[in-house]
Formats: sequence, structure tokens, C-alpha cells
Amino acid sequence: MKTVQDYIRTIPDFPHEGIMFRDVTTLFSDPRGFRIAIDQLLHPYAGQPIDKVVGLEARGFILGGAIAHQLSLGFVPIRKKGKLPGKTIEQAYKLEYGEAVMEVHDDVLQPGEKVLLVDDLLATGGTAEAGIKLIERMGAEVIGCAFIIDLPDLGGRKKLAALGMDVHALCA
Ligand code: 5GP
Repeated sequence: MKTVQDYIRTIPDFPHEGIMFRDVTTLFSDPRGFRIAIDQLLHPYAGQPIDKVVGLEARGFILGGAIAHQLSLGFVPIRKKGKLPGKTIEQAYKLEYGEAVMEVHDDVLQPGEKVLLVDDLLATGGTAEAGIKLIERMGAEVIGCAFIIDLPDLGGRKKLAALGMDVHALCA
């Protein structure tokens, strides 16, 4: 039986030479692959109180939307700067070269709400950390961070653990 990992392909030299890009579109496009990925992402959170699912642009939207629907919860997108139409709060974070900014609508989470944060891949953890900060700045609480892939050598899991986060990933 195929595992989640079997549906993911690695594309060399994308987006730059020397980068081995994990392509999850092959997982998303397979009906069985997509279903087992969503089921396995949800597994540790069964029975836990969660108020909202937050997804990080862009593949976190695909996963987070499916998870939110499955749990009958609302979904909140955290986007790259300049894409959201309403009033936002911003959080800068480091990229390999330079800096980027993530944004979220400032009224989508209420103080005390419990949030599941979702993205496809954890590398350095900079993107997820920016998402966590945005969620916490609204007074909400991240009860878990779920990823399809964790690249442990890049330190993201340690970075999130240092923030007190519980990280769930399906493969490395
Ligand atoms: P980090 O901020 O943890 O260094 O990078 C994670 C972010 O970059 C995630 O939003 C993820 O979608 C994207 N990312 C970085 N490398 C890859 C990759 O090899 N494959 C995929 N699918 N996404 C990646």
C-alpha cells in the first residue's frame, strides 16, 4: 500500500540551482493520496477542542481548507503581503535571501480561540513562526502545527518546539 511519501516527488534545481524541491501537487492530485494525507494530518487532533483552522499561503490553503471542512470549522488564510482586502496585521520573517511579510485580517480570530496551523512543508520554520506570531497577536492560541513534510536538518521543528509548539508531520 502506498504511503503519503510515495505520492510526493522531488524536483531538482527548483526554484534555484541546488534546491531539491518537494512537489506535493502529485499528492494532491491523487484521490487516495489526498485523502490519506488529510486523514493523517487530522489524526492527532481527533477529539481536541479546535475553533479554527489557519493555513499558510499557498499550499496550506489546500490542506487547511480540506481539514476545516472535515472538522466543520472555519478557515483563515495567512497570506503574503498585499493580497488581503481588509484591515490586516503584518509579520516580517526571514527568507534564505532577505525578508518577506505575511498578513492576516485583524478581526478573524478572537482572544482565547484555539487554532490548528497547517502548511505543506516545514523547513527553517520562519514562515510558520510568522504565522504563529500573527495568531498569538490576536490573542488566539496555537494548539498544533501540522505539516505533510518536515525537513529536520533545516531546524524548523526545533524552532517551533522552542516556541512551545507541538509539531505533527507525516514524513521527512
Ligand atoms: P520555511 O519558512 O520553513 O523555511 O519554509 C517553508 C515554506 O516554504 C512553506 O510555506 C513551504 O510551502 C515552502 N517551501 C520551502 N521549500 C519547499 C519545498 O521543497 N517544497 C514545497 N512544497 N514547499 C516548500
